[in-house]
Amino acid sequence: MHDLYTALAEYYDAIYRRRVERISREIDFVEELFKNEAEREVTRILDLACGTGIPTLELARRGYSVVGLDLHGEMLAVARRKAKGEGLSVEFIQGNAPEVDFEEDFDAVTMFFSSIMYFDDSAIQQLFNSVKRALKPGGLFIADFPCWHYGGSSPIVWDERKGEERLVITDWREVELAFQKLHFKRLVQIVKPDGSVRAFMVDDELNIYTPREMRLLAGKHFRKVKIYGDGHELRPNDRRYWLVAMK
Ligand code: SAH
Repeated sequence: MHDLYTALAEYYDAIYRRRVERISREIDFVEELFKNEAEREVTRILDLACGTGIPTLELARRGYSVVGLDLHGEMLAVARRKAKGEGLSVEFIQGNAPEVDFEEDFDAVTMFFSSIMYFDDSAIQQLFNSVKRALKPGGLFIADFPCWHYGGSSPIVWDERKGEERLVITDWREVELAFQKLHFKRLVQIVKPDGSVRAFMVDDELNIYTPREMRLLAGKHFRKVKIYGDGHELRPNDRRYWLVAMK
């Protein structure tokens, strides 16, 4: 049903090449949050919606003990292969994030790259409950999400490469203001050297949260909640936000 995370799983890291390149800086910030906001030392992490393991493996490279969880087996297959290739020991499990069933097993739970937008008003409450249960006291939940009007509505066309193949990607977004839904639409065309083309259409319905809504929702479950900007304290024109919630 979800081509980006199934049929296109093998192409995910090529599509997000730029994210792969900047993951180290992103995890620098996350480590700062561990240091400054957690009330316990962070050594064991649960990375929810881990996908192909872009942040998961970076955490493992830095010596954390990490468990990655994702809904899609195709994404996990890529993540497992990458971990093996680097000789990293990471446990990957398939599951639905709001239903994770851990009891005070982790010092931190993470959910990167807007994945928290998959959860609507009731699923996000269930997610917060399960995350809280999985955390040890003083542990942190960290999730990043974008400003609701990011990207605008006009299509953005860009291209990447994967070996011999060329990817032509067209993205556009439509916002349903009254329901705070974001329709993220993406056409991925894979062009082979002989000129033949395969096309995949992604049409995702995501939930928009403002920083204040996220703070209020998380505040019902966690002891201390802060919203950061991208790499620093929240500023008026920030386009990406980081929820940092402590059990
Ligand atoms: N966090 C990764 C991947 C982000 S892509 C990164 O930073 O690169 C979003 C991921 O969310 C996909 O891999 C998708 O399979 C996963 N996902 C979507 N709904 C989910 C759910 N209910 N439970 C667990 N994972 C989910």
